[in-house]
Amino acid sequence: MTKGKAIIETGWNLDNSYARLPKSFFTSLNPTPVRSPKLIILNNPLATSLGLNVQALQSEGGIEVLAGNGIPEGALPLAQAYAGHQFGHFNMLGDGRALLIGEQITPLGERFDIQLKGSGRTPYSRGGDGRAALGPMLREYIISEAMHALGIPTTRSLAVVTTGEPVIRETELAGAILTRVAASHLRVGTFQYVANWGTARELRVLADYTLKRHFPDVEADERPYLSLLQEVIKRQAVLIAKWQLVGFIHGVMNTDNMTISGETIDYGPCAFMDGYDPATVFSSIDIRGRYAYGNQPHIGGWNLARFAETLLPLLHENQEEAVKLAQDAISDFPELYHRNWLAGMRAKLGIFNEEIQDGSLIEDLLGMMEKYRADYTNTFRALTFGIQEDTVLFGTPEFAQWHELWQARLGRQQESKASSHQLMRNSNPALIPRNHRVEEALEAAVKQGDYSVMERLLDVLSSPYAHSPKQADYSTLPAPSTCPYRTFAVPDIETLDQLIDVK
Ligand code: AMP
Ligand code: MG
Repeated sequence: MTKGKAIIETGWNLDNSYARLPKSFFTSLNPTPVRSPKLIILNNPLATSLGLNVQALQSEGGIEVLAGNGIPEGALPLAQAYAGHQFGHFNMLGDGRALLIGEQITPLGERFDIQLKGSGRTPYSRGGDGRAALGPMLREYIISEAMHALGIPTTRSLAVVTTGEPVIRETELAGAILTRVAASHLRVGTFQYVANWGTARELRVLADYTLKRHFPDVEADERPYLSLLQEVIKRQAVLIAKWQLVGFIHGVMNTDNMTISGETIDYGPCAFMDGYDPATVFSSIDIRGRYAYGNQPHIGGWNLARFAETLLPLLHENQEEAVKLAQDAISDFPELYHRNWLAGMRAKLGIFNEEIQDGSLIEDLLGMMEKYRADYTNTFRALTFGIQEDTVLFGTPEFAQWHELWQARLGRQQESKASSHQLMRNSNPALIPRNHRVEEALEAAVKQGDYSVMERLLDVLSSPYAHSPKQADYSTLPAPSTCPYRTFAVPDIETLDQLIDVK
């Protein structure tokens, strides 16, 4: 860093392994400078764990980097090329409003992508302006950090800066840039891009790079590319089970929004479910419910099949054999997912050992929750603390009967009631980022420039399993509304593409 008076080193320690990959995988370019950057929020613990100096990041020179006005030493900014099935339709995409600045090597030797989202146009922008608005970037910050605290693999948010420039959506909005931190930005769509438009050699280079970066343990396997497929399947089975267990709805599970690392990525129209209903959809653009809560495991499998297709030439020289290997691997996904989900559900109910009837015990509870529209998070929290909440569900004889069966089930394990309670505390969050609370925080931030509401929300969300008194306020439900909650993706080109795509 040369700009500003910062004497203290920021701590950037960047490598650029992606920039050493074949040139067709990306386009090198710098962020487009912005008029007057202002730091809105900085994630101090994350900065520190990355080996960055908080004070230096907050200095004029530090903020210039977060806004794309300055390039840190060692950075080689680039836009990544990728493709993707958006609502089932295949498109060429790429970073249209984001740039990979470099890969930060942390003091522990870990490697994380540092990406600026909203940093200006790129060759992949199509009709878009390359920019992002403050509300959606703060929303990604809040939800990604909440997901991390919930123990769900996710990209993280290092900072949000405003640009001092407006972005034009339905109305004029404040422009902003989010600094996103990820294990990598390799997506199913990255493989789709190379498989479709790259050479056989390039596909192998991408697969080898991925193995080295994310799956070094299987790199030396006899069939490393089959192992790659199996490992990605495993990570997605773990991830999607974790989403289901906390009631998270991604909203846009396009293949370009599915990582190879197994982290949740791209917080667009995502949200957490209040009342339990598998058909819940929040996204205003998901007209057909393709990405509804109950559909997420199925869509995960569909996306993984698209990933498997890209690997076919590497799986076996004989196409038929390759297809068979891919199919076998993909057919494991539902079972892997279910096993993860069942283990998580047992923990949510304080169950340590396994009984064959556990599945139906869980399904019965969920069935009642759906029937009586019981709040997903609060029901499990109430069960954890033995509270008979004043809800329709808790007043029914059906529930009383189920409760007896559950108590009897807990009696059929060696662990004490206290251990069960502890397991449930650690498996059932006190709170989730409730939609009305997130909206309230965003409204104060964006309309009034008051960030205190968001800061309080971030504080309680940072320890969801603490079950502390200050969290109680945040677990109350929104006032009944006749209008279902909808998250609107900023009407940018993606939205328009998707609207056209949804037949
Ligand atoms: P995402 O919302 O990140 O999943 O975006 C899907 C695709 O649309 C990606 O190729 C994005 O880079 C691109 N995109 C989204 N918004 C914009 C924008 N405002 N300008 C340019 N490209 C965009
Ligand atoms: Mg995306």
